[in-house]
This record gives sequence, structure tokens and C-alpha cells, in this order.
Amino acid sequence: MKIRVLGCYGSEGQGRRPAAFLVNDHVLVDAGTVPGALSVEEQIAIDYALLSHAHLDHIVGLAFLTETLALTEAGTTVVAAATAPVVDALRTHAFNNSLWPDFTTIPSLEAPVLGFRTLPEGVESRVGELSVRPVAVDHTVPAAGFIIHDGETGFVYSGDTGPTEAIWTATRGLRGLRAVIVETAFPTRLDAMARASKHLTPAQLRREMDKIPPDLPLWIFHIKPPFLEETAEELSKINSPRIHILEQGKTYTL
Ligand SMILES: [Zn+2]
Ligand SMILES: [Zn+2]
Repeated sequence: MKIRVLGCYGSEGQGRRPAAFLVNDHVLVDAGTVPGALSVEEQIAIDYALLSHAHLDHIVGLAFLTETLALTEAGTTVVAAATAPVVDALRTHAFNNSLWPDFTTIPSLEAPVLGFRTLPEGVESRVGELSVRPVAVDHTVPAAGFIIHDGETGFVYSGDTGPTEAIWTATRGLRGLRAVIVETAFPTRLDAMARASKHLTPAQLRREMDKIPPDLPLWIFHIKPPFLEETAEELSKINSPRIHILEQGKTYTL
């Protein structure tokens, strides 16, 4: 399995893009940045966008991807797949002909550039060639992480979350998992902000580590750009060979 890091930050900064990962060229995991990282041909090849939650830093690239598909008359559809409250939020608040066009009717109702698919929580669904299990995590809005598998190898994606349990419990005993992509947003001195916005700090990540199977490496994403150096230094002080900060633009092979 191939994971290309289109963006791995908790917001936008100079040269730093919000979270989006492209799996095997065809499935996006979150869509914080898409056309900013991919050629038109690469965008057209995307079949699905798995969305952890509806916050702008995870979906804004989908808005621009759908526009690319419409403008280039590619004749393809990207299906946004997420749990029910996330699909509802996208329909109601984003693709609503107010904030952005309703691309589920463009260029026509019969052959739109955007489709929606609701994924049941806690259950494996087939998404393209992948099996995907959304598991609820703890954020300020309805949010899920994903356990993603291709039959041989797989990984866990936390999405945005504060301290959580269910997804780590679901991870135990699964075969073929190679990595956990887990967020860390703020340095520990901003603990109150992290708690209010339901994100992790390095100190909280250290506590989450004990809940995650110890053989799994932790690939960190979603650091807020203004605090990148400070947070990275704190993470390095945890001094664990399991911890690795993801690099934007790099492709990881599981
Ligand atoms: Zn976020
Ligand atoms: Zn969020």
C-alpha cells in the first residue's frame, strides 16, 4: 500500500498544507489539500475521498477538486465517503449552493462530479479496493478515524481527536497493520487550548501511546504550523523510536 502525503499540517502555513493523504493513487484520506498538491491528471484519477469530519482543514480540497472535475469535463465522479453526520454537514453547510455549488447536480443530476456515500460506524465497508472501518473519535464535532486495509497491509488514521479509546481498542489484534497516523496539534504549554478544541499535545500523545499496540509506529500529523518547531522538539524528547513526524510530499510504502 502506498500513502502519499499531500499535506500533513493542522492548518495552512507558508508551504505547509492541511491534512490529505492519497492511498494507491485513487483514495483520499481527508481532503485538506488536493489541487495544490496534484496535477489535473492525478486529481481525475481520484475515485473516493474518505473524510474524518467536516472541519474546513479536512475538506476544503474537496471543494476545489470537484471544481477541477467540472471545469475539465473529465466525466468522472469523486465519491465523498464518511459517517452520516459528516455527510449531513457537507451537504448542509458546504455543497449547498451558498458556500459552494452543489456539485452533486453538476454537470447533471445523472452524471455529477460529486457523490456522497454514508459509511456505517464500526463496520467494515468496501471502498474501491480497500476495506475501511470508521471508528468514532473524540473531537468537537462528530468525527471518526479509519482503519484501512487492502487485504495484506493496513494502517490506522486517527483524524482529529483528543484523548480517545474506541479506535485504539479496535486496533488491537488486527493483522497486517503497519502504522498509526495520529494527530498532535499543539505544544503541551497550550494544554487548555488542546482540551477545549479536542486535540492532542505531546504530553497527551505520550498517554495515548500506552493504549496503542506497542509494535506499531506512530506517524504524527496535524501540528499547527505556528508551533511546528516547538511541538517537534517536544515529540523528540519523548525519545521513542515509534514516533516519526510525517513529511509533506513524501510517499510511504507499507
Ligand atoms: Zn483538523
Ligand atoms: Zn477538526
